[in-house]
Amino acid sequence: MRFVVAVMRHETNTFSPIPTPLSAFSRGTGADGPAYGEAAIQACRETACAAAAFIDIARAQGGEVVMPLLANAVPSGTVTAQAFESMARTILAAVEQGCDAVMLDLHGAMVADGFPDAEGELLRRIRMAAPRVPIAVALDFHANLSAELVGHATVIAGYCTYPHTDMYETGVRAARTLMASLRGEAAPRILWRTLPMLTHMLCQAPSRQPMKDIMDRAMAAELEGEVLNASVFGGFPLADIPHVGLGIVIVADAGRMDAARRLMDELAAQAWSRRQEFVYTSEPLEHTIAHARTLQEGPVLLVDHGDNCGAGGPTDNMRVLREVLHQGLEQVIAGPFWDPQAVAKIIEAGEGREVTVDVGGKTDTPALNLEGEPLRLSGRVRCITDGRYRVTGPMFTGMQLSLGRTAVIDVRGVSVMVCEKPQEPFDTGVFTHAGLDPMAAHYVLIKSRQHFRAGFEQGAKHILMVAGPGVCSSDYTQFPFTHLRRPIYPLDEDATLDRSLSYEAPAALSA
Ligand SMILES: [Zn+2]
Repeated sequence: MRFVVAVMRHETNTFSPIPTPLSAFSRGTGADGPAYGEAAIQACRETACAAAAFIDIARAQGGEVVMPLLANAVPSGTVTAQAFESMARTILAAVEQGCDAVMLDLHGAMVADGFPDAEGELLRRIRMAAPRVPIAVALDFHANLSAELVGHATVIAGYCTYPHTDMYETGVRAARTLMASLRGEAAPRILWRTLPMLTHMLCQAPSRQPMKDIMDRAMAAELEGEVLNASVFGGFPLADIPHVGLGIVIVADAGRMDAARRLMDELAAQAWSRRQEFVYTSEPLEHTIAHARTLQEGPVLLVDHGDNCGAGGPTDNMRVLREVLHQGLEQVIAGPFWDPQAVAKIIEAGEGREVTVDVGGKTDTPALNLEGEPLRLSGRVRCITDGRYRVTGPMFTGMQLSLGRTAVIDVRGVSVMVCEKPQEPFDTGVFTHAGLDPMAAHYVLIKSRQHFRAGFEQGAKHILMVAGPGVCSSDYTQFPFTHLRRPIYPLDEDATLDRSLSYEAPAALSA
């Protein structure tokens, strides 16, 4: 059997000013551009991603694996049409050479120029080229599902964790159902609903309420064989497209659709009835920093979640660091802040030397009327690194990451890390590679929302979410949505559950 396995992952924040050309996609090694063919398989097998599970399972069945593409980009603005076309063409060419199944490791929230539903468009093209070939899809928990995506897939499974530590397992879940179907042991049919509700990303974690009850129920249904797969998606709200919202996908055997429909109704009703619990209200950042000052025991994590590159932020907004310096917090590790120009200037000064440099604030964010505002820092250059480290934490374990050239300067008790490439700190390696021990600091200021928990939560004494400005803000009223379908909760009080988007695969498809 011949399996086509491909990775095309991007979470698009349509408000982000960061462009997303093909070179923004990489294989996870910091190399520019995607990996293709054997190189893709090699790079993929070093990580615990869903595609790695696809490869392992296909080979365990004695199958031949063809991997046309491994393309993974940090969240940023709308993907260029050229990048999308290139990636789609590459995958399609492999499918057109003939295969028995397609296994895709996608994000589910990619928006490309001219294609508000990029994954849906990819699936549509694959389906046109190979009408009867089963397609299994692993999706990120933040996927924004569409009728096109769901309708053309045979099997869908999504991450059940946030931070995403079950990528490989998600691949296993999707592949297991696909293999059962190939052996004729299952006839999978898909059921989908996306509710008219924007959830706040700070309230989405399946390890905590309100998502916990909903996800636990879905997982139990899958584990106990009530359905083949059940996935709940928090959705990615920072996208000005119609199909945003909390989504549910159930894959059930054609003979057990009644149970699947009952489960869908139950999960949807539960999510809708708890919609208020998915709303996060933030306090002014000055209050949060003042509160941090009173905390005697560290490490205190200060998590600036408004400008997180893990969700499309430039990571160069300096507002929170400015406040930290203003209020005189000490023993602080802060960063990494993205500013290649500042890195060059610090490197020019050299380790151990005094330097004055304008850091950050190089990016304007027209969508939110935010102008870049650099922060002038004077201090001693602590160290300069090549920014490379291998992830040892539970998320993306084993992946080689690169911040580009990286510099740390000590400014009045604050060690400020500046780098050439934005990287969300979900592993302590981001700091330890430069000799900084976040667990020995009193305060650690990072830009993240949830993924920091993978590597930092365990050692932290306190975690304070700080409402810095930016394209990942939790205040959705700041975003000028024009394509979002309305009414939608919590922006509109008149949103109702019966306005959900939905799809059920016709019986004939699975015959
Ligand atoms: Zn995600």
